[in-house]
Amino acid sequence: MTYDSRQLHADNQAFLSRRASGAGLLIGGEWQSAGGAATFATLDPATGQETGRIARAGAADVDRAVAAAEAALPAWKATVPVERARILWKVAELIEANIEALAELETLDQGKPLFVGRWAEIPGAVNQFRFFAGQAMAIEGSTIESSINYQPPGKQVRTWTLREPVGVVAAIVPWNSPLVLTAMKLAPALAAGCTVVLKPAEDTSLTALRLAELMQEAGVPAGVLNVVTGFGAETGAALAAHPGIDKIAFTGSTATGRAVLDAAKTNFKRVTLELGGKSPSIIMPDADLALAIPGVANAIYFNGGQVCIAGSRLYVHRSIHDQVVEGVAAYAKGLKLGHGLAPDTQMGPVVSARHAERVEGFLTRARADGATILTGGERTGDAGTFITPTVVTGVRPDMEIVREEVFGPVLVAQPFDEVDEVIAAANDSDYGLAAAVWTESLSTAHRMTSAIRAGTVWINCHAMYDASLAIGGVRQSGWGRDSGRQALDNYLEWKTVCAVV
Ligand code: NAD
Repeated sequence: MTYDSRQLHADNQAFLSRRASGAGLLIGGEWQSAGGAATFATLDPATGQETGRIARAGAADVDRAVAAAEAALPAWKATVPVERARILWKVAELIEANIEALAELETLDQGKPLFVGRWAEIPGAVNQFRFFAGQAMAIEGSTIESSINYQPPGKQVRTWTLREPVGVVAAIVPWNSPLVLTAMKLAPALAAGCTVVLKPAEDTSLTALRLAELMQEAGVPAGVLNVVTGFGAETGAALAAHPGIDKIAFTGSTATGRAVLDAAKTNFKRVTLELGGKSPSIIMPDADLALAIPGVANAIYFNGGQVCIAGSRLYVHRSIHDQVVEGVAAYAKGLKLGHGLAPDTQMGPVVSARHAERVEGFLTRARADGATILTGGERTGDAGTFITPTVVTGVRPDMEIVREEVFGPVLVAQPFDEVDEVIAAANDSDYGLAAAVWTESLSTAHRMTSAIRAGTVWINCHAMYDASLAIGGVRQSGWGRDSGRQALDNYLEWKTVCAVV
């Protein structure tokens, strides 16, 4: 499971010596160190080795970054839409031109197998910038036929709306899919004419820093994008509470989402929250099992289960339960774990030692609660933070392992008998991010699509995404939507105009 990280792409070696020496805050177009030159280590989760030093921004650094974003706002929001579109399209082209190096960097930082970044997430980031380049030129208000009739004689009343950028945005992102989740914030915010202070996750700042370099190269003006790296409780909290921030675009855990909401209260910042999930995969008795078994396995083991929409609860009709669960367990056992940069790796480590301990804690408590670990559930490897893909059975609906988001390669399987029963079980969750239904019946598919409370429902597939499709959840999975046309609205205010002419 070891890999020689000195064989990195030449661009990444140059980038690491340039940025991962601590000179990694982008403020007002200048790369700077944090006050007091504070840094922290970023690690390769597959080996535990230090990859570089990341600048640790404090409150004073955050102040400077917000001031730079405020100063850049008037000129950026006055830019004609086609100019914003041109720059965003150029960002997409630069990401695409650097895709091999970016995928490698993401793997080194986050642990994911190279193919995940190379073929799924980084193309996804490219498409976010392309999609919102188009959206920048499609911002529309409306004219309204009002019923106002007290204008002076001979005059007319005209009423219309304008869309205007919300202002300075704090974009706070997690570590599981760093680049694409960052793109989901930056592309619509910049398209709308907002300026941004970005806070990447402390475990995975590298691709955000490289993206910021590429965005400078694409012509994003100084101060329009600022990046402050650091810890959540320090840098993130200072940013979320900052009075100069007009809107917080947050993706992360439900618990942190609550803290962000509290911080936003001070000056009534606009807030969107993309939070956790415990998404059900439901296999009906008529499902095509040749598709469904690998489909539900991938739904949980892709990216080591560190996916907000991971299908972590599996409900299988009792008539096929054992066949499906054995099939998924065999799939799990067959997955090749290893360093994400090794070409045959199918699943990498979890992101950090802290997170591995968290996942192990869930499994220890599940065992103590009486659940059966059918396969997996172990730390493995001489170094790094590898956890074997896990299937848990013999659970009760009230168990922690059924209710809480593990955010690791842990699937909880349960049988059901009736459609109404499985709909109720699927909805028996604090979360409502996504769901997948596997059935060959059109009417079952439609019925369940309507009945399941979730932001996205997939039929006979999982995690099919596109920049044109909104992502987000109901209940404790959050507020608002990223991606798709809906995301642009997050960054635009309405202004009503009423004129007597
Ligand atoms: P996290 O909540 O710990 O951290 C997310 C970000 O918030 C990080 O940048 C962190 O530094 C920052 N942060 C932490 N404390 C803060 C505070 N007090 N104030 C401001 N910022 C703070 O989440 P994580 O562990 O990095 O990510 C995993 C979570 O993200 C999971 O729950 C997952 O489901 C969720 N997620 C949701 C979506 C979605 O679209 N709904 C997508 C990806 C991940």
